[in-house]
Amino acid sequence: MLKVSPIPAFNDNYIWLISKAGRAVVVDPGDAEPVRAALAERELELDGILITHHHRDHTGGVAALCRDWPDAVLYAPAAEPMPAPGGIALKDGQRIALPALDLELQIMAVPGHTLGHIAYCGNGLLFCGDTLFSGGCGRLFEGSPQQMHESLGRLAALPDDTLVYCTHEYTQANLAFCHAVEPNNPELKKYMQKVAKLRQQGIPTLPSSIALEKAVNVFLRARIPGVRAAAQHHTMQELNEDYQVFAALRRWKDDF
Ligand SMILES: [Zn+2]
Repeated sequence: MLKVSPIPAFNDNYIWLISKAGRAVVVDPGDAEPVRAALAERELELDGILITHHHRDHTGGVAALCRDWPDAVLYAPAAEPMPAPGGIALKDGQRIALPALDLELQIMAVPGHTLGHIAYCGNGLLFCGDTLFSGGCGRLFEGSPQQMHESLGRLAALPDDTLVYCTHEYTQANLAFCHAVEPNNPELKKYMQKVAKLRQQGIPTLPSSIALEKAVNVFLRARIPGVRAAAQHHTMQELNEDYQVFAALRRWKDDF
């Protein structure tokens, strides 16, 4: 049985640990130490490392893990610096096989947060780095609003029951922003209550799902008339295109 568990790192990062029958792959290990501890505790061998983008809080542990586990295969975006020597550079549309986990993943280019950012998708699982968060999306450090809007649209087009493994526990703050945009969204209200309970108990709010994100996450809802109206009201500008609504929401959130 394939298992996906969060390894908390830094303040609010999750390093996702995918495991099956004593073998494991980690996604975005920003720090090696908590990964070593998790592997030891669960008696797992590391077979691979998946990287979504080049930021240090996603790659900082790669070199040390590659030293400890020289047979582990490193995968990272082709359009960004390889975080350690000998890695496999991945482009949009490629597929990788992780035989130890009996898992195949498809690579999706999702530029916006960074220009080379990729996501890994397969078997109903999505590892999307800092592109899609529950209730939010990554900041636009390198890409344009159009690029990010398009990337999020690709993720939103995945099957509804796809589980979304984001790399930060930002959900509660993100939902407060969604609520400011859509104060009367009943699905959002329900989810906010659920998330508040989980966080009180220190339980991760992730994974989310594509269906849930389409229902609550305003960054996937630029085409909803109420969301467009709120963005227009906030910017005091007419916004004709969905990506313009998205861009207005992203700027609004930056100052929220
Ligand atoms: Zn990042």
